[in-house]
Amino acid sequence: HGAFDARQSFRWYSEGRDAQIHRGYQLASDAKQGLLDGDFHLEYQPRFGAKGLKPVSVEVLIRWTHPTLGAISPREFIPIFERTALMDLVTDWVLDTALDQLQAWLAQRRQIPLSINISSGFLSSVGAWSTIAEKLSSRAIPFSMIEFEITEGEWLSPKSTAVGQIAAMAGAGVRISIDDFGSGYSNFSYLSDLPVHTIKLDKSLIDCVATDPRSRAKVSAIHHLAHELGYLTVAEGVERQEQLDVLKGLGFDQIQGYLLAAPAPALKVAELFEPLAEHVSPAGHAQTQSE
Ligand code: C2E
Ligand code: MG
Ligand code: MG
Ligand code: MG
Repeated sequence: HGAFDARQSFRWYSEGRDAQIHRGYQLASDAKQGLLDGDFHLEYQPRFGAKGLKPVSVEVLIRWTHPTLGAISPREFIPIFERTALMDLVTDWVLDTALDQLQAWLAQRRQIPLSINISSGFLSSVGAWSTIAEKLSSRAIPFSMIEFEITEGEWLSPKSTAVGQIAAMAGAGVRISIDDFGSGYSNFSYLSDLPVHTIKLDKSLIDCVATDPRSRAKVSAIHHLAHELGYLTVAEGVERQEQLDVLKGLGFDQIQGYLLAAPAPALKVAELFEPLAEHVSPAGHAQTQSE
């Protein structure tokens, strides 16, 4: 109704700064109860091999439906949580929920590797990897089915706790990707200290790849350098066929974006991944067919 609308539009005026700060406090103070009440859930967005356009894995994306404010974007609430202890709580919830889902998929013989966004704060604590390893082991999830998406920044300085944690997880077989590459002051030099497997080129670079020759040149250069350095390349935010055609032509490894699949609930996404066939032996024991 009226009062609510007024408050929404109020945020667009300069005095709206107060309202925005107020909203930030409200989100931070409501998060814990929201977790208990089931107001958070996960969606999964597939990634596809660029050549055959077969789904190869899914990215885990958090969703929050606030009881009075409605759907809130993670672009709004994640940065707020990151300034507080909430981020550890939410990361723990994301990991448990996503890994429970993967465990259920594995029980259905669906091999669906997960990419999980993980914030710098979580990885900067010395117990990060042992916490994650315990969650994987207790569910019998192979480490190789998990990838963590991290974003570059000063937190990745060579001797940081985070880099030690990342080295430990990569050593155990978990994959690491650099998310949003090209959106900030990206460069490849600091990556040599990190066991990174995959570079995800940011949507902002991909947007004009089919229409602007300079943009295409940048994407081509980053892609080729990444390949020469041994990284897999993923394009994110692909929305149009012309973009896909250009990216395929450049030799990108994987594609993610609304053109191929938007984030969706677990049940819908699972349909894209056929369960492995099983042999039924005369004794009636089921066996997983190897690929
Ligand atoms: P991200 O990791 O770069 O994820 C990609 C974002 O782009 C997602 O937004 C996704 O829904 C959106 N997207 C994918 N394809 C397209 C497309 O073709 N067009 C457009 N316009 N958008 C596309 P979402 O889900 O709102 O997440 C935003 C950001 O919030 C993520 O960016 C990530 O940085 C963060 N985030 C989301 N879930 C988590 C989480 O569980 N933990 C952490 N630490 N961060 C998360
Ligand atoms: Mg991501
Ligand atoms: Mg991100
Ligand atoms: Mg991204």
